[in-house]
Amino acid sequence: MVDLKGQYRHIKERVDKSVLDVIESTAFINGPEVHQFQKELEDYLGIKHVIPCANGTDALQIAMMGLGLKPGDEVITPDFTFAATVEVIALLGLTPVLVDVDPVTFNIDVDAIKRAVTSKTKAIVPVHLFGLAANMDEIMEIATAHNLFVIEDNAQGIGGAYVSKDGTKKKTGGIGHVGTTSFFPSKNLGCYGDGGAIFTNDDDLAYSIRGIVNHGMYVRYHHDVVGVNSRLDSIQATILRAKLPHLDEYNNARRNVARKYSLAFSGEENIITPICFCDSEKYSFENCNCHVYHQYTLRVLNLDRDALAKHLNDQDIPCGIYYPIPLHLQKAYRDDRYLESDFKVTNQLVTQVISLPMHTELDDEQIDYITNSVINFVTR
Ligand SMILES: *Cc1c(COP(=O)(O)O)cnc(C)c1O
Repeated sequence: MVDLKGQYRHIKERVDKSVLDVIESTAFINGPEVHQFQKELEDYLGIKHVIPCANGTDALQIAMMGLGLKPGDEVITPDFTFAATVEVIALLGLTPVLVDVDPVTFNIDVDAIKRAVTSKTKAIVPVHLFGLAANMDEIMEIATAHNLFVIEDNAQGIGGAYVSKDGTKKKTGGIGHVGTTSFFPSKNLGCYGDGGAIFTNDDDLAYSIRGIVNHGMYVRYHHDVVGVNSRLDSIQATILRAKLPHLDEYNNARRNVARKYSLAFSGEENIITPICFCDSEKYSFENCNCHVYHQYTLRVLNLDRDALAKHLNDQDIPCGIYYPIPLHLQKAYRDDRYLESDFKVTNQLVTQVISLPMHTELDDEQIDYITNSVINFVTR
């Protein structure tokens, strides 16, 4: 699904030297590389504060701790996402409220959010799923109307942008009160191990979070709040510094692959290709980064999706089913209050979605091989 080795080859010299330099410096924890990376990511994103941490799951948990969410508070999040999002809500004793998604964007359905808001709701966690920005204008409006926090799970969307109704363009992760990301190796900006970060433009929240990631310490050996130990290693930071200048180029390479895939499938009525707003009025085709294609995910209709997956695997084409089971049906997250009729879209998507290989190193020959194989199956 990804070709990390091919990508590494292009940046090997810089990466190897940087990693060796960190080892020579022995500044393994909270070293200068971590601070430099933090500054460079703040500049890139146009966000005031980046707080690096150990992984994207911690980032979500720490964001919720920083906002002061308390047991019993309800947090609304999509039914169709990776489990990390709902996991930390439950772990903190908050009450997850899963809602359905939109069938076209795969992102949280804003009408479902409106129906789910109660007097106990304290936050919404939209996920920019597969790299496409959620409907942030409406989400922020709902949040403002009900005095809710918005935590953007940007683990799949880094480098992507969102254009608001008023025409302002912002990078995802910097639109809500706080944003989070993951530097897991296969993410669009991945390190060579685990890593993550929290983003916010709020000075007080940033101050609070900087203490939380460091055992609740604001003054050395004074523990004001219960915190965690969640750090980005210097070695990972230096690798991220080598990759960050290429992030736009990486995301462009992904978009080009997506464009070729979608073009190849354009005549297939049983294949729904991912939506991209590149040619809508809000975005211009040349510099559209509304979608950064963490995954290129098709919906297949009137076809046996699992047989297609097997067909691809038989021809040595990897593919992924993200995600095969709705979160509300997972044993850990079941809740008597849920009605199956509230999850019509997710229940259908889990039987229809299939993600094709997506990375920065795919060439035309591979793309043709993959698309031909899909079309052969569909038209046989
Ligand atoms: C990858 C991912 C996470 C978790 O990131 P880790 O670094 O693996 O902890 C959270 N949310 C989403 C949507 C993800 O894709």
